[in-house]
Amino acid sequence: MLKNDQLEQWDRENFFHPSTHLAQFARGEAPHRVITSGKGCHITDREGNRLLDAFAGLYCVNVGYGRQEIAEAIADQARELAYYHAYVGHGTEAAITLSKMILDRAPENMSKVYFGLSGSDANETNVKLIWYYNNILGRPEKKKIISRWRGYHGSGLVTGSLTGLELFHKKFDLPLAQVIHTEAPYYFRRDDIEQSEEQFVAHCVAELEALIEREGADTIAAFIGEPALGTGGLVPPPAGYWEAIQKVLEKHDILLVADEVVTGFGRLGTMFGSEHYGLRPDLITIAKGLTSAYAPLSGSIVSDKMWKVLEQGTDENGPIGHGWTYSAHPIGAAAGVANLKLIDDLDLVTKAGENGAYFNKVMREALSAHANVGEVRGEGMLCAVEFIKEKQGRIFFDASEKIGAQVASALLERGVIGRAMPQGDILGFAPPFCLTRAEADEVAGKTAEAAAQVLG
Ligand code: PMP
Repeated sequence: MLKNDQLEQWDRENFFHPSTHLAQFARGEAPHRVITSGKGCHITDREGNRLLDAFAGLYCVNVGYGRQEIAEAIADQARELAYYHAYVGHGTEAAITLSKMILDRAPENMSKVYFGLSGSDANETNVKLIWYYNNILGRPEKKKIISRWRGYHGSGLVTGSLTGLELFHKKFDLPLAQVIHTEAPYYFRRDDIEQSEEQFVAHCVAELEALIEREGADTIAAFIGEPALGTGGLVPPPAGYWEAIQKVLEKHDILLVADEVVTGFGRLGTMFGSEHYGLRPDLITIAKGLTSAYAPLSGSIVSDKMWKVLEQGTDENGPIGHGWTYSAHPIGAAAGVANLKLIDDLDLVTKAGENGAYFNKVMREALSAHANVGEVRGEGMLCAVEFIKEKQGRIFFDASEKIGAQVASALLERGVIGRAMPQGDILGFAPPFCLTRAEADEVAGKTAEAAAQVLG
């Protein structure tokens, strides 16, 4: 085995890490951490530190680490057939079975699953399908996609454009012109502090209508949103938001893409977030929880309504010109089948709801009273603590103080991983669904201690 300092040197010299301060990392000023194993809600690093991972990797290891059933399924598939493509009608038993399992669990009126490898490429597929759909319907002008500020939909060219976070646009010449953004349903950060939740929803709807009016409904193809905002702050929508938004979309014949990369397969205590909040999507993006990240796999679930037009398109134009070498990769598909079976066998969607309710309760009890905690919010196995300089008048900390990141490091020193979300002083939690009550108590207690260390 390599010595730790050798590995660190190789890491700093050779490895281009995603979402990392490159210069600081190369200079040795930003942490280098090598993870070696995981079991349940814990991971262990190369120094032997055992950490409670209350963010499930990047909210993806939903069934927890070290599940032998999934590891075995992957190994069996690799031994039997590591790869075959899915082009021109080819496939594997794993991929076909998984498509059936997904549709059995999906909201109604869904027809087919297209498999990719990441949430980003699945959303890239969605945008292509939307454009194809409107071309086949003879409305080539209807192409723009509306996303929300603070939405997260990936970091490719079009998906990084959909993502409504400055860091993902700045210096990359994004967003592309076909993508436009509207207000985030983020009640705590509303401009007008006097607004009720109901008034705020009406404001979001008015903003959307004004955008559609400005751009012209005949130029707008689709609206994409996470049922509950994820990376932009872990924000469940205000009551009535989705119903009101969908009315506007339906009026203007605008498709709805539910990006369920985080919420799909149980995180909110329901199989899909669409079910949880009453969304009627035309496309659904899935990834992370589909395999609990045991292998890379994503998907676009296509509705009956869109599928009919896609079929018509291929009758008129020949085979669909879209596919990756690794679409429906058998190892990912085998991981997906084993993961969904495990979720059923252990009733993990119900557990996510129950354990999540307990986790959110103890987090609120431990943190809400702190003078610098503006809000503790969550749903199912999502929870966010938002720090604020002064509650009175809702004055936020200056971003340069990096309060969220400071609390996250104080928490890490105590052996618990939370995630400082990329915009605003928000400490996020999205633990594996198997989080026990004792572990939930530990996260809550140590987060309160970490907040006290940084903020007094
Ligand atoms: N959509 C959502 C809602 C996400 O949270 C993410 C990833 N955090 C993505 C898409 C992109 O997925 P990936 O990182 O696998 O490309």
